[in-house]
Amino acid sequence: MEISRKEVRRYLGYGIQDGDDAVNGLIEECIKELTKGATFKYVSRTYPLKLLPDGEIDFTVFQTRSLNLSKNLADCSQVILFAATLGTGVDVLLHKYTKLQMSKAVIMQAAAAAMIEEFCDEENQKLKVEFEAQGLYLRPRFSPGYGDFALECQRNITAVLETSKRVGIMLTDSLLMTPSKSVTAIMGVSEKPYRCEVKGCESCGKTDCAYRRN
Ligand code: SF4
Repeated sequence: MEISRKEVRRYLGYGIQDGDDAVNGLIEECIKELTKGATFKYVSRTYPLKLLPDGEIDFTVFQTRSLNLSKNLADCSQVILFAATLGTGVDVLLHKYTKLQMSKAVIMQAAAAAMIEEFCDEENQKLKVEFEAQGLYLRPRFSPGYGDFALECQRNITAVLETSKRVGIMLTDSLLMTPSKSVTAIMGVSEKPYRCEVKGCESCGKTDCAYRRN
């Protein structure tokens, strides 16, 4: 897996700047250690989707209300529920450096954030190819907590996907995921041939797209 150093620096607040040698050296160290410590796991399932009036969404296995997500899912007939994690080994590393070397812990956090996003992108790209072979097109992933898509829906997604049993993702009472570098998301499936960017609408040049999330 190729982790974008630029993305790690962006998480660190460097914007488009290159960062100095010391920081770049620590980024390389962190990526090396994370690659060794991570246990990449993901699970996904597909369900029929019904969009109802006033932003009500019926995912078959649970319902919610979100105007932002309804817009993104317009013209979709199915939905993929998705969860991915880097595993507990990454939390052990984060904890270790929080105690030993705070500067490295901060960089480890940024590198791990870039790594889970890259892992999700890679798995979503595989799903995209698989579905396109059947004449179906995926919207970018949309996670609970984004816009008006309730964070509480993490409970539904983790329960439906049996993430605790299948990939080891659990939720605390305050809706934090353990392992901490985990993602839950949904992706619409449509017959309309919109070739969405796996990295999401923010990376997509189609600024007038009717489904664009905002
Ligand atoms: S803006 Fe681009 S990525 Fe977003 S829904 Fe439209 S085509 Fe897909």
